[in-house]
Amino acid sequence: MTREEFEERVRDAGKITVKDQELAGVDIIWEGEMRRRDMIEYLAGKMEGFVIYGDVRVWGNNYYRKPSIVAPVRYRDEWAVDDFTYLRGITDKDIKVPLTGPYTMAEWCFNECYGSKRELVIALAEAEREEVERLVRAGAGYIQIDEPAIPTRPEEIDIAEEGVEIVTGGSSAYFGIHICYGDYSKIFPGILDFPVDQLTLEFANKEFVDLEWMGEYSFADEDLGLGCIDVHTRRVEKVGDVKRAIGRALEKIDPRELYVNPDCGLKLLPRSIAFEKMRVMCQAAKELRDEL
Ligand SMILES: [Zn+2]
Repeated sequence: MTREEFEERVRDAGKITVKDQELAGVDIIWEGEMRRRDMIEYLAGKMEGFVIYGDVRVWGNNYYRKPSIVAPVRYRDEWAVDDFTYLRGITDKDIKVPLTGPYTMAEWCFNECYGSKRELVIALAEAEREEVERLVRAGAGYIQIDEPAIPTRPEEIDIAEEGVEIVTGGSSAYFGIHICYGDYSKIFPGILDFPVDQLTLEFANKEFVDLEWMGEYSFADEDLGLGCIDVHTRRVEKVGDVKRAIGRALEKIDPRELYVNPDCGLKLLPRSIAFEKMRVMCQAAKELRDEL
């Protein structure tokens, strides 16, 4: 396959993903990260300072090509501007651009260059800041910083916050921070001080237990992205169950400050199941909107 043929297939796959989301009723979409084999290797490949020695096992029989930072990190190629521009041309839906956050990049790479985690996070955040500025110039209004590593080392939350401040500071975009697979009680209330507009969290996989204690906090400065679809099971949720879960969140949070989303990306599910799950989520949200 030539490079051109490959590029055409990537675009076709993105178009299918967009159409699926439109048909399911999703309001804010992305193209499915077609170019990203994983959330670390792809961005590492766009910056100076990284090498990849080989595969590292993450869970079960899944591996990722864990990069190592061997020289100062510098921004080199654009990360997502091209995909954003392409998407803007084929859909009228709102677009959310996901970028792996600087803390998670630092935590999930080997560090053979910087003297401290903080120095590394700052260098990565400055590179990410460059991408954010380019995205905003291209018209992007909603950027999601993916930071699943934060709850794994809650003692370093200040370093993570400093990174996010550099990425978002002074930008006109709406920023979400997405954190999945962790013990949220370890990062509250500190996470509420992060300079973002939305916390996008996982709830369905934990049967919404976190809503009980999280509702005690004021979400005055942030919207909540409620993960209400479990991406770790092929069982498709029932509309009524998802409505009840969203209803529990609405007891604590103003509907104007509540977004609904899957717990995390759907990429490990078969396409037909991912579609059904999105459709159920959107139907539940629509029915609740009508009732409100
Ligand atoms: Zn996630």
